[in-house]
Amino acid sequence: MTEEILKKAERGEQLTGTDILTLLQRKEEKDELFAAARRTREKVMGNKVFTYGFVYFSTYCKNSCSFCYFRHENSLAPRYRKEKENIVRTAVRLRDSGVNLIDLTTGDDPYYTGHPDRLAEIVRAVRENTGLGVMVSPGVLDQNGIRAIAHAGADWYALYQETYDRQLFGRLRLQQSYEARMRAKLFARAQGLLIEEGLLTGVSDTAESRTMALLEMRKIGFDQVRVMTFIPQEGAPLAGTGKAGDFEDELMTIAVMRLLFPDALIPASLDVDGLDGLEARLNAGASVVTSIVAPKEGYAGVANSVRDIDDGYRTISGIQSTLGRCGLTCASAEEYRHWIEERKRISCAC
Ligand code: SF4
Repeated sequence: MTEEILKKAERGEQLTGTDILTLLQRKEEKDELFAAARRTREKVMGNKVFTYGFVYFSTYCKNSCSFCYFRHENSLAPRYRKEKENIVRTAVRLRDSGVNLIDLTTGDDPYYTGHPDRLAEIVRAVRENTGLGVMVSPGVLDQNGIRAIAHAGADWYALYQETYDRQLFGRLRLQQSYEARMRAKLFARAQGLLIEEGLLTGVSDTAESRTMALLEMRKIGFDQVRVMTFIPQEGAPLAGTGKAGDFEDELMTIAVMRLLFPDALIPASLDVDGLDGLEARLNAGASVVTSIVAPKEGYAGVANSVRDIDDGYRTISGIQSTLGRCGLTCASAEEYRHWIEERKRISCAC
């Protein structure tokens, strides 16, 4: 059964909900799934992967997501808001190390969301000083905020629903609006920004709920799609069902995403379990290495706020041997810029 579904996907035929559910559930056939995902990536990307530098420049947040270390109430989480000069210097350092894009991330910090001109100033400065693609992940922005980052030169707006099951959403993103989050990313697309969606697994989600999410995500046609495994966080209330080291659901979802969204980008995040988990995620069909962090600059990760950062493993040089074992190599900034321009051209034509 799995073999037939994989052939169907590789022929470019649309998979049904039942097909998707079958692929997500057949753990005993995961190796065939991963192999099909790698073939699909190779058809589109050859042996190249893109690399994203991560600049988490404000860890303040007004929200109380039950899964998050940086939720407002957690007094254990380190709080900082970096100055523009520091952010730009770090972004340039990441650019010089070879990353293709700077991912400018904050908590849902009213200092920025309430004053989008401040955010736009940082986007503009990073864009002008690095010449790289820029992704902005600042939480829910209003329409003025989205227009401001688009005008300042951002390429991407990343905003994660984490689940399309509204009841589960209510338990994860406490007292937040599902609809407002969804509207913000669709408005961003209408402003010419590429958009990224993300799911979280290991949080009482099921193969059925992930199937429903993937079907909805396919209708919207996101430009980048990610899934990450929940890591229990000190000081956050959600215990979840994810056990450290058990990332099978995440890997199988990456592979199914690869088949469903052959032209979209899919991250292998260093944020879940550092360099250790990179090879498995790339072998499941991921096409971007994300959460590369400049060491010793005092910047945090999100799910793993310190792991592998200051010892330099979450760097371009730190990932080279893993890429080599996977038969992959880093794309140049020009190749990434070309991908972005093509993708925007196609998105605008839709
Ligand atoms: S996930 Fe984002 S919005 Fe939610 S508490 Fe954490 S930093 Fe804030």
